[in-house]
Amino acid sequence: MAVPTTGSPWWCCKPMYSQEFKASKDARPLCPSEASCIQHETTGAPEPAELSPLPSWKARFLRRGPFCNRHRKSKRFYWSIVLICLGPLAFCCSLLSARFPAWTEIIYSQGIYPVLSRCLNWLSGLVPFSLMELLFAVGIFFLLVCGVLWLGRLWRTRGKRLQRGLKPVLRAGRRFLVRAACGISTVYFLFVFLCGLNYNRLDFATLAGYSLEPSSVEELNALCRELFQQAGELRAQIPQQGALVTSGSVFDLCRQAAGEYDAISRRFPILAGGYSAPKPVLFSEVMSYLNITGVYFPFTAEANVNIASPDFLIPVTMCHELSHLRGFMREDEANFIAYLVCRESSDVLFEYSGIMLALIHASNALYSADPALYEELVQTYTPGMLADLRDNSEYWQRHEGLIGDISDTVNDTYLKANRQSDGVKSYGRMVDLLLAQRRLSGGLS
Ligand SMILES: [Zn+2]
Repeated sequence: MAVPTTGSPWWCCKPMYSQEFKASKDARPLCPSEASCIQHETTGAPEPAELSPLPSWKARFLRRGPFCNRHRKSKRFYWSIVLICLGPLAFCCSLLSARFPAWTEIIYSQGIYPVLSRCLNWLSGLVPFSLMELLFAVGIFFLLVCGVLWLGRLWRTRGKRLQRGLKPVLRAGRRFLVRAACGISTVYFLFVFLCGLNYNRLDFATLAGYSLEPSSVEELNALCRELFQQAGELRAQIPQQGALVTSGSVFDLCRQAAGEYDAISRRFPILAGGYSAPKPVLFSEVMSYLNITGVYFPFTAEANVNIASPDFLIPVTMCHELSHLRGFMREDEANFIAYLVCRESSDVLFEYSGIMLALIHASNALYSADPALYEELVQTYTPGMLADLRDNSEYWQRHEGLIGDISDTVNDTYLKANRQSDGVKSYGRMVDLLLAQRRLSGGLS
């Protein structure tokens, strides 16, 4: 076979296609020095007549030599098996950790996870923007480009494909399924070991020494009135007519949210940090249409916050996402921790934000338990509080739609898959923690 030779070193291989290669797809030596299979060299087996070396970029960056088709396929096959097995392995670890929450707490949540998350968070904290957002944007662009290129190739080669029949299509479909299984399995494995096991740790009530007990409607009503009184006093200190609007940079607010954990970590050392500030999301409006106020992204250990939602709940949302970063993945616990952090703050905005979140949850529970008591409570809301709550309702009504419903269904499925049995409704269980905390501090009889 005639192959042009130039004497180039192996690491600077450029495609130097022979005339035969242009005519035949099977024989395609790229470089004379690559025209032998490493596997055959090491085993001493006789080389096949025709070789199909790796593309030059793989040879250069992966430092792998060329392989004949048979050895390349077998390597790919073994790697596929390894990657596909990662998913079941992670699932078994997740089941095991759910069975032994105390061990999960000691080994993973207070052992491995803080090291992993701090390293990742330090790396992602080197850039001020959300890496999650960048990854999604690049991923969507990549998928679109690949889709267009694939359709173009399909159209160009439609004649040949019709002649070849169904066999190549089935082979391509099988290859796609194997690759998809490898990708999903690897992502699931990373998710489980980067945060998923935290769903199975001991609950915050146990760690904080609260006892969750059934509460009466009177206790719930007393809690609502206490929260209402605190919220009214705090709102009176913010001299704004209409809905609350924060002043200053959102990045300052993010840094402040991270700093607010210093105070609470003195009472609860398990909430101690060493983590960077949450990050505002550029495409926050898109998040609003998806009914999302914040996202913890475990692959970069970033707390991402929707900054387009009503301002009075943004500080508590930041604290909520930061509690996920500290390994508290359950939504009800993250809400309660965010409330505790905000309540300890010396900033009126943070205090008001945390108490309003608690009041919304508690008053919703009161409405379910006794609508008459709820109506009585609502009548006493101050104009400032009413303006904030009305602004919140109107904002989310403007962003209602099919996309939001789909997003809710996905979120609900995600929570159920992580053994939060009542899915999205588990956000309401924050009230039990509020009642337990009040009972411990002597606020309720
Ligand atoms: Zn959350």
